[in-house]
Amino acid sequence: MTLHLFDTYARQERPFTPLAPPQVRLYACGPTVYNYQHIGNLRTYIFEDILRRALEYSGYAVHHVVNITDVGHLTSDADTGEDKMEAGARRTGLMAWEIAERYIADFAEKLKWLNVRPPHVWCRATDHIREQIAVIAAIEEKGYAYRTDDGLYFDTSRLSDYGHLARLDIEGLQGGQRVDLGQKRRVTDFALWKFSPAGTQRQMEWDSPWGRGFPGWHIECTAMAAKYLGPYFDIHCGGEDHIPVHHTNEIAQAQACYDTRLAEFWLHGAFLQLDGEKMSKSSGDFLRLESLVEKGYDPLAYRFFCLGARYRAKLSFGWESLAGAATALDRLRTAAHAYGAPSVPDDRYVAAFKERVEDDLNMPRVLALCWELVADDLPAAAKKATLLHFDQVMGLGLAKWTPREADIPDAIHALAQQRQQARVAKDWATADALRAKIAAAGYEIEDTPQGPHIRPRPTA
Ligand code: AMP
Ligand code: ZN
Repeated sequence: MTLHLFDTYARQERPFTPLAPPQVRLYACGPTVYNYQHIGNLRTYIFEDILRRALEYSGYAVHHVVNITDVGHLTSDADTGEDKMEAGARRTGLMAWEIAERYIADFAEKLKWLNVRPPHVWCRATDHIREQIAVIAAIEEKGYAYRTDDGLYFDTSRLSDYGHLARLDIEGLQGGQRVDLGQKRRVTDFALWKFSPAGTQRQMEWDSPWGRGFPGWHIECTAMAAKYLGPYFDIHCGGEDHIPVHHTNEIAQAQACYDTRLAEFWLHGAFLQLDGEKMSKSSGDFLRLESLVEKGYDPLAYRFFCLGARYRAKLSFGWESLAGAATALDRLRTAAHAYGAPSVPDDRYVAAFKERVEDDLNMPRVLALCWELVADDLPAAAKKATLLHFDQVMGLGLAKWTPREADIPDAIHALAQQRQQARVAKDWATADALRAKIAAAGYEIEDTPQGPHIRPRPTA
């Protein structure tokens, strides 16, 4: 077999072969940095990490690009409402630029906690205004844009297959629309460039051939993906919410500008749900990875929890299921540790593993294989080598885990380190708040002459 992946564009699983082997060019839509990423967002990055690891496991050299949306993503997908960054700035009393820094740093840290490999390129929308203006100009030049009082819009009626990715029913959308289109000609038309509202000064705005303002949300991905990966690359991915609007519009822009559909494969991760609803930042009802750590969970227990479902299936978050995942992970780690030094992986298990990975990243069946292996009577050293082989894709950090680390997860070490930095900066309030967080998670810190020493809090 070869690696099979479900391509949303074709609506089917297809064998994957790179356009220019052994390179695989991979683009993933990253965070909008107006707030913390929640564990739903993080589920999508875990899926993308498994994808990348599976590609690397298949022998490809992956070039992975992730964007950071730090301007232009409006509160409504219909190009109305406020810029989420400016709203975030108001909520926190900080500048839009400052909140971007804060949430980018937090995001990068959380990826580390989850063993998600960092991309080769992080690209920020605000660092690529020139490139975005160039793509918009090309789109306009080819006759796909029109002006309104509030911006420059993409004319979706010019593309006969607009909305193919999402199988959009354009007539239905057009007929059933209740929203006021303003000067937009079609309900699916979208902003390429928005003007700063007259008489107001935005925190983030730039001059352009069309007037002072800021780029529409979708143009950054087309412009930056083309800059770093070329106008037609292997795989584009993101969460399933991107299918009907954001990715549909990225494709429209690429069709107008490069005459391509931007990527050969379009992959989408399904949502994490909480109480039957999608978890979302805008509703304010979301859980951060910290909330899990504060309750004593290792972040990798969350990764393990995510591996228990296929990436294309919705997954409901529940504390009991997380506890189950944490116990299972502990069992796997303890078994792997007890096997001692590895010899060589078992061929039969490696073949079964490969087949499951190649079946559109079937991680629940990979986990099932782990348990089969643990129950098998193969020599311990072969079991250890086989589990480590699996872990190239699972990314559970089995090689470096020791029982001592079981007591103190990486996330607690990270909090202790942040506390140490606060102490050095004599920021006692932050240091105390971090100590309280660490205590709430069940650990205590003793400051010794050799530095801080962390240990589990004795239970009463
Ligand atoms: P955002 O920061 O809102 O731009 O989203 C960052 C990534 O998380 C995107 O790929 C979204 O599709 C994805 N995402 C948003 N909400 C969820 C959710 N509840 N479950 C899984 N992925 C999500
Ligand atoms: Zn994007």
